[in-house]
Amino acid sequence: MRRPFIAGNWKMNLHASESAELAASIVTQFDNTDIDIAICPSFGYLSAVANLVNGTSVALGAQNLYPAEDGAYTGEVSADMLLDLGCEYVILGHSERRHILNEDDQFINLKTKMAISRGLRPILCVGELLEERETGQTETVVEKQLLGSLADISPTEMALVTVAYEPVWAIGTGKVALPEQAEEVHRQIRALISREYGQEIADTTRIQYGGSVKPENAAELLGQENIDGALVGGAALTSDSFLAIITNAAAS
Ligand code: PEP
Repeated sequence: MRRPFIAGNWKMNLHASESAELAASIVTQFDNTDIDIAICPSFGYLSAVANLVNGTSVALGAQNLYPAEDGAYTGEVSADMLLDLGCEYVILGHSERRHILNEDDQFINLKTKMAISRGLRPILCVGELLEERETGQTETVVEKQLLGSLADISPTEMALVTVAYEPVWAIGTGKVALPEQAEEVHRQIRALISREYGQEIADTTRIQYGGSVKPENAAELLGQENIDGALVGGAALTSDSFLAIITNAAAS
């Protein structure tokens, strides 16, 4: 019922030629019609990568936006600019932005509303810190982040949103959540969406898992009932590992 969705978050990695090579390699080799994929290069290379993915089944995503239409926001990029560049998706609320750049749920909510108002599809990230998991706060933290980031989003608007559950302790650390641990939180997220938006929206909303997803663990993670895809960081930086994740996920 839910098409798997795998997105590669390149973060602040890969320079011009590397970004172009990776995008070209993915475009040439990706041929699975049952899975949606997106690649999210850094702002500087969106245009070059857009030229390579344009007209293919590989979608383009950005890693952030600023929630104003235009104006005096030095260094920031608007939703309309991302649309001009050919983006379909935008990653919002990534833990690196929450914890390094101190973004809170209210600010992420403004970004989510701005993205949706322009027809961009947010990949909305939520996830707990290690100490929050160890002190039994995972469910509370994820609920607060999810509801705060989705404040005033209607059920119709929710149709544009993908949620990414990314336990912070598993991001870039090589520590992956056990499939059952991830599934438990995904189930809670879906129940929350059902409570807020109704069962139909909950049944169709895709919830990605993110946190050290690799070719070796992709099948087991994506084989869980409520895990509908992956947001991939490190393993999205080479076409071999990114495409192997897709192949293994398809087999799950
Ligand atoms: C991420 O940055 O969203 C991520 C999940 O990174 P990694 O796959 O490297 O843990």
